[in-house]
Amino acid sequence: MQKKENKMEKLVSLAKRRGFVYPGSEIYGGLANTWDYGPYGVQLKKNIIDAWWRRFVENRLDMVGMDSAIFMNPKVWEASGHVDNFTDPLVDCKECKERFRADHLAEENGVALDEVAKLPCPNCKGELTEPRTFNLMFETHIGPVSSDNKPVYLRGEIAQGMFVNFKNVIDTMRMKLPFGIAQYGKAFRNEITAGNYLFRQIEFNLMEFEYFIAPPKSDEDWQKVFEEWLGEMKEWIRSLGIKDDEVYFHEIEGDDLAHYSKRTVDIEYHYPFGLKELYGLAYRTDHDLKNHMEASGADMRYTDPNTGEKYLPHVIEPSFGIDRTFLATILSAYDEEEAPTANDGEVETRVVMRLPKHLAPVQVAVLPLSKKEPLQVKAKEIAKAIGQKQRIEYDESGSIGKRYRRQDEIGTPYCVTVDFDTLEDGAVTVRDRDTMRQDRVAIVELYDWLARNL
Ligand code: ATP
Repeated sequence: MQKKENKMEKLVSLAKRRGFVYPGSEIYGGLANTWDYGPYGVQLKKNIIDAWWRRFVENRLDMVGMDSAIFMNPKVWEASGHVDNFTDPLVDCKECKERFRADHLAEENGVALDEVAKLPCPNCKGELTEPRTFNLMFETHIGPVSSDNKPVYLRGEIAQGMFVNFKNVIDTMRMKLPFGIAQYGKAFRNEITAGNYLFRQIEFNLMEFEYFIAPPKSDEDWQKVFEEWLGEMKEWIRSLGIKDDEVYFHEIEGDDLAHYSKRTVDIEYHYPFGLKELYGLAYRTDHDLKNHMEASGADMRYTDPNTGEKYLPHVIEPSFGIDRTFLATILSAYDEEEAPTANDGEVETRVVMRLPKHLAPVQVAVLPLSKKEPLQVKAKEIAKAIGQKQRIEYDESGSIGKRYRRQDEIGTPYCVTVDFDTLEDGAVTVRDRDTMRQDRVAIVELYDWLARNL
């Protein structure tokens, strides 16, 4: 436990020191549960989103993308049940005033929700209040005078944008069932309990798709598609460099299952602060389309091209939190090992971020051994050429050993070092992040070499 907490602290500190993630509004003392992605962080996040989009949207014939507005007619959120039911149960400590999610305390202590008030406060052993419900939707107003009009909401999830556009998509895209609609973007939740870094924020990023199927004739029909998506999610998780034993597929059962869902699996990750949700996969029946059809009066039915029959499709929803993906990816990539220093015989702890090569914010760092002009010119020329295809960085400050360590910490797979011999023999040294092996590669072959290895 000591070691795990330690890892979290080290990671948060590295992420700040190396420009991945900064505390939100830091110079004003911060704002709880908000974080800002720095230059390497935003690149890693973008690489994750791009890989997801390529895999699930561009590379598939049965998926289309979209990007819906964050603000939606408030009737959307009434129909979806968010205005009435998107709530968390809370308890407060009467002594220390700390606030807790009652459902979390119930689960941790193996008691029912209405028994939580009898538990001692985990913080100070003080007495807890009865649970109260608290709506997670952020409200705001459109127009200059807030009392003039009804509130609008910052979306608490991104799925509704896809459901309300279902009709537009089938009318414009000639999609045949089964098919999916995918999107990614920000969601907002007025979370009131402790954040655990990127894990629980008040605004966060989601990637999600709604996969529509014909109304199943038997349980086998939808179970088959559900299992396929479980498999796809498993493969995706592996592509992030996360090992199978770092995740747990939690079958949600009984009262914990939403009333409209016939099956939900939470994919949980072993974070240093516990085994908690990374992703979710849910079979939501025709619940969402049916609600929107009733509330809006719009015909959301699909016309079967073979039989002419009209029906409401059912939906399977895989949902991927982007910030939790980012967190799990860097947690799994983080490694420490004893490595020799530049001084012969001495060893030091080397921190290395073993990110999958396609996700690393920088793929190749070009490092001239010295700041002398002929080396600078040559190194910049090489950097420019590599930059046509790969994400590059040029760095000439500090000792070469320190520069390697810095690239190790941000997860750069290859460093290309330009030295005085380069000017004579037209070759550079390529250093491998994981093995620290150094190979001499001719510049004429370098570009192909990198393309092959990345
Ligand atoms: P939790 O039980 O942890 O509050 P949830 O079950 O409410 O999560 P969903 O509504 O299923 O979460 O949201 C879909 C995904 O969005 C989750 O799998 C998770 O990856 C991510 N997510 C949810 N809430 C947050 C948050 N506050 N900050 C960051 N990511 C979040």
